[in-house]
Amino acid sequence: MPKLQFDEKVCETCPTADCLVKCRFIDVDKDQAKAEMLRIARGEDSIVFDSCVTCYACEEYCKRGNHPFYLITEKREEKGLLTAPRAITTQWINIGEPQGKYKVGQIGKKVLSFGYMPELLDMAKGKLFEDLSPSFVFGQEFFCNVVYIHFANTSIIKKRLPMVMENFKKLGVEEVVCLHDECYGSFAHLAPAYGIEVPFKPIHYFDYLYERLQELKEQLRPLNIKVTYQRPCSSRLSSDKHRRVRQIMELIGAELVEREYQDENALCCGGIFAMLYGYDLANEVQTKNIEDMISHGAKYCVFNCPACQNTLGDKVAKKGIIPVHMIDLCKMAIGEKPLPEE
Ligand code: SF4
Ligand code: SF4
Repeated sequence: MPKLQFDEKVCETCPTADCLVKCRFIDVDKDQAKAEMLRIARGEDSIVFDSCVTCYACEEYCKRGNHPFYLITEKREEKGLLTAPRAITTQWINIGEPQGKYKVGQIGKKVLSFGYMPELLDMAKGKLFEDLSPSFVFGQEFFCNVVYIHFANTSIIKKRLPMVMENFKKLGVEEVVCLHDECYGSFAHLAPAYGIEVPFKPIHYFDYLYERLQELKEQLRPLNIKVTYQRPCSSRLSSDKHRRVRQIMELIGAELVEREYQDENALCCGGIFAMLYGYDLANEVQTKNIEDMISHGAKYCVFNCPACQNTLGDKVAKKGIIPVHMIDLCKMAIGEKPLPEE
């Protein structure tokens, strides 16, 4: 069974304990933060179990290669501290259960992975994907399963993720372009943290889009719009790819407004908060986030994950900000889709 690689000695000598010092949901100073992480690592009780709302951010805050959030999740599960009622957890686990109903295209050495996100199937068409789109995978058999860390259930990930890797291995693929941000996080971050072998090179679709847009440079027309970017919780597992947002916006002539809740200080869409911790927390986070977008002059909100767009898209639209997925925005920049009027 895969085992989390977490070294408590790395925490003992940590000069910042940024994992919890920076956590916006837990109020501790450096000494207490370090003490709490060590208590968790040693299997003791901690205030963190009561307050952590599973935002994933400490995975990005820790710059020492330890895995604070994965550890919190492991220990919660060991102690039976579920984050959601058991029926809801079970329902979610059933959604990701492999059913043998997966779809694969004409598989080449490089494939597009839709994970288990039907919204992405229609999006990955046109010039941006013309060479790659025939070679794809879709379904639970290729689903990253990372969502279960929100539910304090790493055992299901440890069981299923090696099976997912085996499914890719059987296809003989060498590179997988992940259109689902969380799938990339799973293959590039979570799997290595658990010592799970990844038999291909995972590629984030931001890297793919950036390269493809450069190839199509002649067709690019600056969009001349003010946008904000809605960062998903999953991108805490691929923070090295976040720079691509700015680079892509520069390439397509979209001005990324500077605002408070961006980059490392981003607020998530609140979808998981509504489900696990109630509407008050979700509303509080969403209201702060949207007011921040408005007060900094954003006219469009660019989404990375379709699930975030499902959660927050209508809410930003009601406030006069146009929701648009990153892929659609790139299609608009090459003239393949009309830009919705402000
Ligand atoms: S998890 Fe990372 S940031 Fe937190 S105390 Fe340990 S080494 Fe430091
Ligand atoms: S996952 Fe988020 S809420 Fe939980 S400890 Fe880490 S930063 Fe705090």
